[in-house]
Amino acid sequence: MSSHEIVLLAGDGIGPEVAQAARRVIEATGVDINWVELSAGKNAVKIYGQTLPDEVLEAIRSCRVALKGPLATPIGTGFRSVNVSLRQELELFANLRPVQSFPGLEGRYKDVDLVIIRENTEGLYIGEEVQESPGVIRAHKRVSLKASQRIAEFAFNFASANQRKKITVVHKANILKKSDGLFLDTARNVSTGYSSILCEDRIVDALAMDLVLDPSRHDVLLCPNLYGDIISDLAAGLIGGLGLVPGANIGQDNAVFEAVHGSAPDIAGEGIANPSALILAGEMMLRYLGETAAAEKIRNGLITLFKEGNTLTPDLGGSASTIEFSEALIKIM
Ligand code: NAD
Repeated sequence: MSSHEIVLLAGDGIGPEVAQAARRVIEATGVDINWVELSAGKNAVKIYGQTLPDEVLEAIRSCRVALKGPLATPIGTGFRSVNVSLRQELELFANLRPVQSFPGLEGRYKDVDLVIIRENTEGLYIGEEVQESPGVIRAHKRVSLKASQRIAEFAFNFASANQRKKITVVHKANILKKSDGLFLDTARNVSTGYSSILCEDRIVDALAMDLVLDPSRHDVLLCPNLYGDIISDLAAGLIGGLGLVPGANIGQDNAVFEAVHGSAPDIAGEGIANPSALILAGEMMLRYLGETAAAEKIRNGLITLFKEGNTLTPDLGGSASTIEFSEALIKIM
């Protein structure tokens, strides 16, 4: 059995709690992993004097794969988002977020099966804000043909490799005619190379309503950066919350796997965070590494655990701690 070298960034808030749980579950599959534990975010400032140390970038470039807990970003002031910097520095251009309901855990809907594919490097997240005049701030949004084409090709390739039937391009091109117009036109052009996949488009506000009324109307959602971020949390709400949705940041050479949720400061330190999202990110990571049997072990274990319903964390209506949840999962596996 070959060994995998993987960077582990525990993150802030509930990060260390869910990262520890995910690590134990991944190790319980029997896959041989050499974890390279490093820090990013405000914890890294104490050690390296910066939020995204070169050591972290170099380690991820060398290992090619990382598992990352959530990193907090100060609101309104303070340092720039480390998550955004990490995605831009490593050119992790595709953010892949599967949102699937689990039997026994249905929130508002049964059988939700959506995949959100979010452009991860530009849009409003370039973080350029300028003071135009006193009391007036202008934020710049960047949309390029290159990045739009790259993410559209990723989405159509993903859909075709995973037997998906339809891609809905999400936009606001009625208002942002040039920028979102370029994103939409580029996706439509790419779609002509994939005759078996239906390509539709939907204005983001109408899509939000569609999803709340009937998520089964949609399949793969191809989103610019900001809309993908917002729609991800909305979609998480359809299946029972942020504790259940994993994500992968994928580039040409490297991939960083994480939960969609943030550092949850309101419950940090209480030991009650749901580790499922990061465990499912671990499952995605194992599939990426070709460790399909180990990934299946995790998925099947979670399906059984949720169906039994005896060991659920408080966000899912139970009273189990993070550790009790992960121990119960390991026992099932
Ligand atoms: P959040 O996702 O941290 O929390 C939103 C709500 O969901 C909270 O009530 C929280 O308790 C709950 N929640 C989230 N994850 C949960 C889990 N695993 N189990 C149980 N409940 C869970 O969003 P926020 O409060 O808006 O953001 C907090 C911080 O996280 C901010 O600094 C933000 O920048 C950062 N953030 C980081 C990432 C990332 O690292 N990829 C993503 C989103 C937000």
